[in-house]
Amino acid sequence: MNFCVRCGGKMNETGDVCTQCGIRYDLTNNTGKIVRTKTNGLSVAGMITGLISLVFSMWGLISVIAIIISSVSRKQIEEYGEKGDGMAVTGLCCGIVSLILYVLVLTIQGCVV
Ligand SMILES: [Zn+2]
Repeated sequence: MNFCVRCGGKMNETGDVCTQCGIRYDLTNNTGKIVRTKTNGLSVAGMITGLISLVFSMWGLISVIAIIISSVSRKQIEEYGEKGDGMAVTGLCCGIVSLILYVLVLTIQGCVV
């Protein structure tokens, strides 16, 4: 019986899928490397909202949305071993930067007014 390197759970009969976290392993080269088969859909959404929030950083809400979507996406990627972590990180960074810009702009406006 093989055990999942990620969560320590039992593998299925063929030993390529973890019964606990559902992650799939590549047995062809016997490295036990996690096969990232599909791209996480939310990571794309997170990156796009992150980039939009950077361009339109006056909309404070959209950067919060980008941060939330990207965070959820990163959690899913970690959980299911999906692709798209780079995009989720990009979305997260853009969201945080634009949120900081938004707060700065609000602060400056507050000081001027
Ligand atoms: Zn597992």
